Amino acid sequence: MVTSANLGYPRIGAKRELKKAVEAYWKGEIGAAALESVGADLRAANWAAQVDAGIQRIPSNDFSFYDQILDTTAMLGAVPERFSGLQGLDAYFAMARGTDAAPAMEMTKWFDTNYHYIVPELTDRTRLRLASDIPVRRFTEARAQGIQTRPVLVGPVTWLALAKAKTEGVTPLSLLDQAIAAYAELLASLAAAGADWVQIDEPILVRDLSGDEAEALRRTYAALSGKGPKILLATYFGALGDNLELACQLPVDGLHVDLVRAPGQLGGVLAAIGDKTLSLGLIDGRNIWRGDLTPALALADQAVRALGADRVEIAPSCSLLHVPVDLAHETELDAEQRGWLAFARQKLDEVTALARAAGDGRASAAAAFDAADAAIARRGASARIHDPAVKARLAAVTPADLRRQSPFATRIKAQKARLGLPAYPTTTIGSFPQTAEIRKARAAHRKGDLNDAGYRAFLEDKTRDCIRRQEKAGLDVLVHGEFERNDMVEYFGERLAGFFFTRNGWVQSYGSRCVKPPVIFGDVSRPAPMTVDWARFAAAQTDRPMKGMLTGPVTILQWSFVRNDQPRAQTCRQIALAIRDEVADLEAAGLPVIQIDEAAFREGLPIRKAEWPEYLDWAVDCFRLASTPVADGTQIHTHMCYSEFNDIMPAIAAMDADVISIETSRSDMELLEVFRDLAYPNEIGPGVWDIHSPRVPDDASMVALLKAAAELIPAERLWVNPDCGLKTRGWPEVERAIAHLVAAAKQMRSAV
Ligand code: GLN
Ligand code: ZN
Repeated sequence: MVTSANLGYPRIGAKRELKKAVEAYWKGEIGAAALESVGADLRAANWAAQVDAGIQRIPSNDFSFYDQILDTTAMLGAVPERFSGLQGLDAYFAMARGTDAAPAMEMTKWFDTNYHYIVPELTDRTRLRLASDIPVRRFTEARAQGIQTRPVLVGPVTWLALAKAKTEGVTPLSLLDQAIAAYAELLASLAAAGADWVQIDEPILVRDLSGDEAEALRRTYAALSGKGPKILLATYFGALGDNLELACQLPVDGLHVDLVRAPGQLGGVLAAIGDKTLSLGLIDGRNIWRGDLTPALALADQAVRALGADRVEIAPSCSLLHVPVDLAHETELDAEQRGWLAFARQKLDEVTALARAAGDGRASAAAAFDAADAAIARRGASARIHDPAVKARLAAVTPADLRRQSPFATRIKAQKARLGLPAYPTTTIGSFPQTAEIRKARAAHRKGDLNDAGYRAFLEDKTRDCIRRQEKAGLDVLVHGEFERNDMVEYFGERLAGFFFTRNGWVQSYGSRCVKPPVIFGDVSRPAPMTVDWARFAAAQTDRPMKGMLTGPVTILQWSFVRNDQPRAQTCRQIALAIRDEVADLEAAGLPVIQIDEAAFREGLPIRKAEWPEYLDWAVDCFRLASTPVADGTQIHTHMCYSEFNDIMPAIAAMDADVISIETSRSDMELLEVFRDLAYPNEIGPGVWDIHSPRVPDDASMVALLKAAAELIPAERLWVNPDCGLKTRGWPEVERAIAHLVAAAKQMRSAV
C-alpha cells in the first residue's frame, strides 16, 4: 500500500478566523482562553478535513498563533532577554510585535516564499533547552480526537542556520549540542506519548550548504536517530542538488523530496536512498493550479517499482501553508476558472487519489484521474489563456527594444535641460497617507454606496490636496499620491488581461497578516491605459515636474500566483510589454519623469546561487523592455525598498534606470559603498527617512546622512527622498518630515 501524507495545513482558517481572533486578543477584546479555544477549533477542523480526505499521515504541531520559527524559538528557551519580564502568550507576541520597552525581533522571508518568519537571536548568554511541551500537547490533543498524527518540527540545523548571532564570538552552530539535547528530550517525550513518526523539516538542504552546516546535519541526525519516533526528514522548495548524497545518507527513517520544483531528482534519490521510506512531493504546495495527476503518477510508479509500495508516501511538495484554504468558498469564479484550480483542501484529494493509484493502479482512482486529465486539457486549450497577438509581439522583440536611444551620459543632459532641477533634487517614492477616510470611501465605492462620479471627485480632491502640500513643502519632483490604488500590484492586475482575483484566496504572509495574490492565468496584455488619466490630471495641477508611477514587471510577477504552463520569465516578459505600453503613453501624455517600482526584484533571486545569473538576466531584460520606449529627455526612475545590493550590483547597473531610490536611512549610508566601489554610473536617491518608524527625523540628521552619502557618491548624482512610500504614515508626521527633507536638501545645496 502506498501511504498518503501531508506536511502541513494552512492555520489561518477558511475565513481567516485566526487573524480575527489574534487581533481581537491584541486589542484586549478577548482573553487568552478565548484565543486558545479558537486555536483548538481550527486544529480540530483541519484534522477533520484531512481525515475526511483520506490522508493517512496527518501532521500536528503545524499550527501556530504567529509563526512556526518563533514557536521553535520559544520552545528552545531562546527568548531574548528584553522580553524576560513577560509570560506565556504575552511574551510570545511581544517577540513578534515588540512593546514600548522592547523592539520586536527581526522578520524576514522564508526561503523564496512570501511567508515571513521571526529571526531567532542568539547571544553569548543564550542557553538552549526544552522549554515547552507544546508539540507533545498537540499530539495528545489530536489523539484525544482519535487521530494519530505525525508531529512536525522545524529542524535544529535549519533553525540555527536562520538564526542571527547578536554578540561577537557566538556562531549559531556553536549552540548545536544544546539544540540536539533539547530535541532528543522532545523526541523521547513524543515517543512516550505514542508518536511513531515525526516530521523534521530541514529545508536548508536545498540551499548551498557550508561544510559546517553539512557536518551539523550529520551530527544532529546521528544523535537523534533511534532515540524516539521514526524520523521523516523533509526537504522542499527545490532540488537537493549537491546535497543529495548527504541527505540520503543521514541516519533517518524517511526522506521527503520536492518533485514539483525538481522532478528530475527522483532517479538520483532512488539510487541513493538505501532502505529509507521516500515521501514524494508531487502536488504543488506553492501554487493554486489543479494537479496534473497523470505525469505525477508516472513518477510515483517509478518510485514504487524501485522501492516497493510500502516504502513510498505521496504528499504535497511542501506544507500547504503557502496556498489558500478551500476553493469551495470561491463562489464568484466562473466554472471554467474554478476547474483550473486546487486550494489546500482540494490538494488533499489529489494526494489521496495519487496514493491510491500508485498502490492499486490508475483504475482504482479513475474518476479523479479522468477529471484531472480533462481539466488540464481544457485549460491548455482555453481561448482565454492564449492570445496569439501577445505571443507574436513577444516573438518579435529585438535587442533594440531593450535599449534606450542613447547612453546615460547623453540622456542625463537632455533630462537636466528639460527638468531644470537644482542640485540634490527632492522627491518622494509615490504614495501619501492612505487615511481611514480614503479606505472608507474605497469600501463605500466597492459596496455601491458611493457612485463612480462621487468616488472620482473624492479622489481628485485628495490628489489636488496632496499636490498642494508637496508644492508648499517645496519638493522638486511631485507625485500624485496613489490614492486610487489599494495595492501596488492589485491595481495593475485588475487592469491587465490574463489576471483574475479570488474572493477568499488568502495566504498567511506574517503573523495575522494575510495576502490575496492575484492569479496570472493567461497571456498578459493591457486592454487600455491604466494610470494615464490620473497622471494627466495630476500633471495639470502643477507647474512642477510630475512623476508617473508604475509597478514593474518583476514585482507584479513575484507577488502573484503565476501560471505554471510556461516559464516565469516568459510571463514576466508579457507583463513587461504591457508596462512598456503604459510608459510610452505616460510619456505621450507629457510626464517628464516615470518611476517603475521593483520592490520585489531582489526577493525573486533563486535559492541556489548557481541559478542567480539566469534569473538576473531575464529580470533585468524585463525591466529594460518595460522602461526603454522613451526619448532621452524622459527620466526613468526605479525604486527598491531594501539595501542589500552587494551581490547584485552589476544587474542593478544593467537595469540602466536614470535614477534609483533605495532604502538606506537605517544603515548610515554604509550601503552606498558598493555603489561607489562598483562605480554605479547613474543617479541615486538614498533614503534619508526611515518611514517604517513613526519617528520624524530632524533636518540635521538628514544632512548628516546626505553628507555621508556625498562622501561616497558625487553630489551631482544624488537625490533626496524617503526610504519608501508614505501610505502607512499619518499626514502630520509626513508634513513635518518632508519639510525637514527639503530643508536638508537646501543646506546641502548651499555647500555645492
Ligand atoms: N510607489 C510605491 C509607494 O510609494 C512603492 C512602494 C514599495 O516600494 N513597496 O507606495
Ligand atoms: Zn519601497
